[in-house]
Amino acid sequence: MENEFFSKQTTRREILRTSGVLAGAGVLAGLVPGNLLSQPKALAGNLQQVASSADRLAQMKAGWAAIPLQTAKLRDNIYLLSGPGGNMVVLGGADGKVLVDSGIAAAAPKIKQAMDGFGGAPLKVLINTHWHFDHTDGNEAMHQAGAVIIAHENTRKRLSTPQDIAAFGLHFDASPPAAWPQQTFTEGTKLYFNGEQLTLAYFPPAHTDSDISVRYENANVLHMGDVWFNGTYPFIDPSTGGNIAGMIAGAARGQDLADADTKIVPGHGPVGDKAALAKSHDMLVTVRDRVQALKAAGKSKEEAVAAKPTADLDSAWGKGAVKGDFFTTLVYTTL
Ligand SMILES: [Zn+2]
Repeated sequence: MENEFFSKQTTRREILRTSGVLAGAGVLAGLVPGNLLSQPKALAGNLQQVASSADRLAQMKAGWAAIPLQTAKLRDNIYLLSGPGGNMVVLGGADGKVLVDSGIAAAAPKIKQAMDGFGGAPLKVLINTHWHFDHTDGNEAMHQAGAVIIAHENTRKRLSTPQDIAAFGLHFDASPPAAWPQQTFTEGTKLYFNGEQLTLAYFPPAHTDSDISVRYENANVLHMGDVWFNGTYPFIDPSTGGNIAGMIAGAARGQDLADADTKIVPGHGPVGDKAALAKSHDMLVTVRDRVQALKAAGKSKEEAVAAKPTADLDSAWGKGAVKGDFFTTLVYTTL
């Protein structure tokens, strides 16, 4: 116990010591909103002042919650909700609404209000793409609003027990039982709502070990969760099973599930298409190959980062929260 506690403290101190990485390299990618990351000095200062994981998490949630909720129509009866958390998608109709991901809890009233504005029957189902808090923090509120929560069994496992994301020095207590998925699956399942078929399918460990895709078969819409960050380097969560090989395989499977007309929703970033997903896939392969070569040549993680294997890619892909050095670290760590 003491050793474990000590190692956690050490990890946290290492993270805080490397505040340049925290801010400049965007360690908090995908878990901290862009409005904070656009002010890296403020973020670094804030994080250094915040001693505990609980306070840091509260600060991240507040940052997310402050982002305005935006809505966009994807197809008839299918809407994108973006802003306070990962990208959400709502399917409406007479059978009741189906929501994919629940955003930040503090934004739940706004999210519910937006869904009410789409008309039709009340919320019936909430699907989680994976366990991370920017996709599940609103679970309890949505369940109280009437939703049955469906997810991969690993999402339930992780929400119902304490978790850590070591890359951020973050600790999560178990979520309240009302936030846990009530219906789970291992490989896949199908829902038939409002004349639509939703096909839910497990990604072998990619961004985490709980990722699924949600495909709207008739409307030709695909939600990839955080297996796709459109236009930027992705965050990968090694603490809960994430790895670069799985991200590459996930991007390949996403292309297999799509045609030229498919609207593909990433966990973070703008809605895209198969061509954009292919570009992300090819970038992941390029970085993996380069980092693999450095590792095979005996380079340490620090030496691999110092070799700048993403230098020519950073202007295109490093504009998001994950910068090249941090992405190199994630790839190296999970090879
Ligand atoms: Zn995530």
